[in-house]
Amino acid sequence: MTLRKPFFGGNWKMHHGPSATRTFVREFMAEYPPREDRTVVFFPAAISLAEFRATAAGRADLLTGLQDVHWESAGAFTGSISAAMARDAGASFILAGHSERRHVFGDSDDDVARKVAAIAAEGLVPILCVGEKLEQRDAGDVETVVERQVQEGLSRLEPGQIADVVIAYEPVWAIGTGRTASAEDADEVHRLIRGLLIEALGEGGARRIPIIYGGSVKPGNIDELLAAPDIDGALVGGASLVPADFARICLSGQR
Ligand code: PEP
Repeated sequence: MTLRKPFFGGNWKMHHGPSATRTFVREFMAEYPPREDRTVVFFPAAISLAEFRATAAGRADLLTGLQDVHWESAGAFTGSISAAMARDAGASFILAGHSERRHVFGDSDDDVARKVAAIAAEGLVPILCVGEKLEQRDAGDVETVVERQVQEGLSRLEPGQIADVVIAYEPVWAIGTGRTASAEDADEVHRLIRGLLIEALGEGGARRIPIIYGGSVKPGNIDELLAAPDIDGALVGGASLVPADFARICLSGQR
């Protein structure tokens, strides 16, 4: 799969149950016609995935994923969903290590690595989310934190599996805060991540992997972010809940 065309993900977090999902999808489809030059993936709440897929039936361009999975494939894990179940329900991508999973629910780097491995083992694409907290940025630790999260997050994959991941750089201080990293600052971290991927995969393999930015992306800042050489798309929270806004974001960079 060639993933490296502009890549847009809509992370709905704990918003939009099945009824709101139906309304959203109808409105979004009216605003966003199918396009082959970009990838658009929605991460609805798990309980809304089936409704999303039913409403978007016939729109094969609108892909779906889940926001999190357990690393085990089945078992006594009340409240959890496995990657195998996600695949069965039609998901193609799964987020791993989103900052809310790390910092609200306590996912460790090794938990994230187990999830990434379980997702890849099911033939789904893991979107490994990494990013520093504000105090880590202020202490000059961006490189150390991001490098550790990328290396540990991918540590349970074979090189062949690393070729089929997406990395989302999401500085914690920019998520849901209205503060966005400048395109220049974000691109610097994306270059660092690209360098780590080059070490793992060589130049050719690393250049195929989308590295997307997340953190208060809006219709008003997406064009500048996407114009940066190593920013391949965006993972969008708040603005992905509004059909017209997310459609505008997903249409950014069209030729
Ligand atoms: C996110 O949830 O991944 C995110 C980036 O949220 P927001 O766009 O609201 O900052």
